[in-house]
Amino acid sequence: EFPFMFFKRAPLPRNMIENSMFEEEPDVVDLAKESPSYPIDSDDVVYEPRSSRLLVRGLGENDLDEEEEDYESSARLLGMSFMNRSSSQRSAAASSYTRQQPSNSCSVPSAKKMVVGILVLVIIAFVAMFIYFVPRCTFSKDGCQKTNSSIEQLYPKASNGELFPWTGLRLPASVHPVHYEISLQPNLTAMTFQGSVAISMVVLQETNKIVLHSYDMKIINSTFQDEKVNILEYKPWQQIAIKVSKELKKGEIYVLKIHYSANLSNSYDGLYNSSYIDTNGKRRVLAATQFEPLAARKAFPCFDEPAFKASFVIKITREAEYISLSNMPKVKTTPLGDGLFEDEFEKSVNMSTYLVAFVVANLSSVSKNVSNTLVSVYAVPDKKDQTHYALETVAKLLEFYNRFFEITYPLSKLDLVGIPDFLAGAMENWGLITFRETTLLIGDHSSPIDKQLVTSVIAHELAHQWFGNLVTMRWWNDLWLNEGFATYMQYMSIEEVFPELDIDNEFLSVRFKALAKDALNSSHPLSTKVYTPEEVAEMFDSVSYEKGASILLMLKATLSKVAFRKGVIEYLKRYRGLNTQSEDLWMSLSQVTNPHTDVAEMMNTWTVQKGFPLVTVNRTGIQVNLMQEHFVLNADNATDHSNLWHIPLTYVSDICNNSSSCKQVFLFKDKTGLRCMKWLKFNYRSDGFYIVDYGEQGWRALIIALKENVNVLPHEDRAALINNIFALSRSDRVSFRQVLNLLVYLKNETETAPLTEALTQLNHIFMLLDKRSDLLLVSRMTTYIFTVFGDLMDSQSWEEESSVSKQALRSALLETACHLGRPNCTNQANRLFVQWRTSNKTEHIPGDLLKTVLSVAAQTEKGWQVLLDTYKHSIYDSEKRKTLQALASTQDVRKIVWILKAALDGSEIQTPELPLVISTVCRHSAGYLHAWDFVKENWDKLTQKFSIGSFPLQSIIMSTTSQFSTKTHLDEVERFFGSLKERGSKMRSVQEAIETIKLNIQWMDRNLVTLWKWL
Ligand SMILES: [Zn+2]
Repeated sequence: EFPFMFFKRAPLPRNMIENSMFEEEPDVVDLAKESPSYPIDSDDVVYEPRSSRLLVRGLGENDLDEEEEDYESSARLLGMSFMNRSSSQRSAAASSYTRQQPSNSCSVPSAKKMVVGILVLVIIAFVAMFIYFVPRCTFSKDGCQKTNSSIEQLYPKASNGELFPWTGLRLPASVHPVHYEISLQPNLTAMTFQGSVAISMVVLQETNKIVLHSYDMKIINSTFQDEKVNILEYKPWQQIAIKVSKELKKGEIYVLKIHYSANLSNSYDGLYNSSYIDTNGKRRVLAATQFEPLAARKAFPCFDEPAFKASFVIKITREAEYISLSNMPKVKTTPLGDGLFEDEFEKSVNMSTYLVAFVVANLSSVSKNVSNTLVSVYAVPDKKDQTHYALETVAKLLEFYNRFFEITYPLSKLDLVGIPDFLAGAMENWGLITFRETTLLIGDHSSPIDKQLVTSVIAHELAHQWFGNLVTMRWWNDLWLNEGFATYMQYMSIEEVFPELDIDNEFLSVRFKALAKDALNSSHPLSTKVYTPEEVAEMFDSVSYEKGASILLMLKATLSKVAFRKGVIEYLKRYRGLNTQSEDLWMSLSQVTNPHTDVAEMMNTWTVQKGFPLVTVNRTGIQVNLMQEHFVLNADNATDHSNLWHIPLTYVSDICNNSSSCKQVFLFKDKTGLRCMKWLKFNYRSDGFYIVDYGEQGWRALIIALKENVNVLPHEDRAALINNIFALSRSDRVSFRQVLNLLVYLKNETETAPLTEALTQLNHIFMLLDKRSDLLLVSRMTTYIFTVFGDLMDSQSWEEESSVSKQALRSALLETACHLGRPNCTNQANRLFVQWRTSNKTEHIPGDLLKTVLSVAAQTEKGWQVLLDTYKHSIYDSEKRKTLQALASTQDVRKIVWILKAALDGSEIQTPELPLVISTVCRHSAGYLHAWDFVKENWDKLTQKFSIGSFPLQSIIMSTTSQFSTKTHLDEVERFFGSLKERGSKMRSVQEAIETIKLNIQWMDRNLVTLWKWL
């Protein structure tokens, strides 16, 4: 699945030349891989470079055979010591611990080492005793299995009053479905459907009950082994069950048939009805499905857990004016009379229920054969000519993945369908990928950045056909295996297949976003125990997708591209058709490492604990001490001080920071070479999921180096320094003055990634100040932003621009400039708008500037009305969305009230756009409080449209609350969500909202004075 709002941050393209230089750099050596003598140390307390799999980049080719020695000596020369530190152990950490037996001046007295050693032994003894005396199941993933016989007596009551024979949210494992025969008759006039399902199942353990899922359907009749059977239903758990008098025999196949009816869903999951207005102004209807994660049970009774894979034969009855599509190719169509036809589809491959899909609609398509797969892109007839880009793109990506995974896509067809009224970004149903129109269709008005989005979503969903569909996570706790991987593959494949789309800057900004989320105490481990439907829904968040992708990138950088790919292929081949958990992936990757590396040991530190490490660099003379601790923005709130990570550390220094000079550096075999070191930059190109604090001296050295020459570091590293220093300032480790000191270097910066990162961070502060209505400070901040970026803003072109990177930079700069009312910007925008309007839209506005231009125009009454008309009639979805954002940027309160209401009731603005409307309204102080009131007043309606925990609801909560920074608002937010109880008070995003407001308050308390002084 592709949650839509993930593309909110401006895409950040890259400098290709600079990057490919690094990409191909032959002298970047993975020492960890080459150092068999350095096993990962299992000692949890003392962290040493040997065990940390230190990765030194920049060795010369000539040095390869000596690299172990080089590594050892370089670490020794640097006098590096590594130590894990928790925030509660700062003082202990101050007495640093050096790596073993260094043979030079960087060593530390051995007495100190002994003290630490003894301490370690004592701690180990304590831990051992603790483990020995605490019941084993405390540490098992699922805790103690409740075998208490009294629970057997706590069977809930089924809706008919009888006892329901099962007591868990998870289904019993005694029966496993093998095959489903599903027949559905949707009625698009009455908005209902009839269905029948025959489920063949095999008994794995003798039992006298069968329990499966079903939600909100009326069961007409049912048979078990062709005999009438009574179905019990327990609605709260969305389960039905049958009890049989004779024990079902192990290994036997049984058949349960159920005939039922239901309404088409009017939320956006299950089998739901969707509608749109065509170019003739006529409302058209269609039916489509969205089952992930738990909504297949709304369309047919089934064993709705990902591990219950089975095959499916689907038959759909439709009227002549529609076509029907499903996962598999159509086998035949049978006329049923009365203008009805039944389409039957081939028997499917074995798959999880959440991947089943069908669509009944009036659609047009374009097709093409790609290595024995018929690939088609479908859209409503009005938009057929916008499908070609997607077809070409999916063809290229399918060939790429077939080659990359060494497993050919297993179905003979692949359909991509643009659904007019669709909530997620896209859904990877096997063979029938469904999309929002914005994420699939490319028209005349689309810019290269729009193409970047469409390509990303296609690449993501296509990767799922292997990661997710072929090999599936066993349960939703490991959702990241699906989503993290698909997200990683999305960036990786685009970089390979479409280098012109400059995708790696986008991936960099995604890693920054994941760090920001994961720095909150309300974050969660990648693998998190989940149970209820709400908890499952919440897993679809930034952590599963973006952190998942980030740690895979880090792993790839550590193992090498080749080994990583080999491990992935091994994993897919071994588990093809099966279900897995994180461990299985680590095992496959470990297997291909040579020398053998225990990938699980390293990666478990990243998947089973939340958050990420802050590496602190302390230099005393020539000695460099490194410490790690859990980075939490609000350290007072931290719940766990003992988290440790195995960090594959990388660095460059002033002596070795690009390929040519690096080759010489390690010719220095004696210590003096590194004594000259002026600065060090860790986390080379920001491939690792950690941030670094260089200490006052270290930051100063880096700032001086950058002021002298920005090119001493790759642009990813410059962006990372900006990102890290803001995060450190937010957690009060670095003063805001120091942040401003770093930003001084920006006057020489020309690259997109660092400039947009700085702009994003400053915009964030601006928005907080703006929402406090502190007018004087707001105007000073505006002046400051113009001081840093003003010249760059004024020098941007307003003509067509072909480089995605330049487009991303100028759209970010000009959006801010016009938003802050810079006359140069608003005048140009007005000029383009007038041209566009008077030429009846034949005078084109560059796609990346469209939103900015229209947002300026939307501030006048006349402009707003023109845009409303454009919104209603545009058939180009990207233009339509940008127009909608412009409409929502109005400062006119009456219009704000209207637009919020229209998007909620879905009449003039489709409801899936509501989260976007709200986030846009919230950018401006005029609408911010209105949006918050709107959410409070309409909470019940909102949760009917967007289920509790779902991504749209997470987005709405964060948009409307994350810019508060006063105690009054904190109280109000706490009070409101506290009053919701089961309607949402426990959502993780609510905790995130409250934590964020508290952080904002603290930041203001600490920095308002600085801002007055320094801005
Ligand atoms: Zn996905």
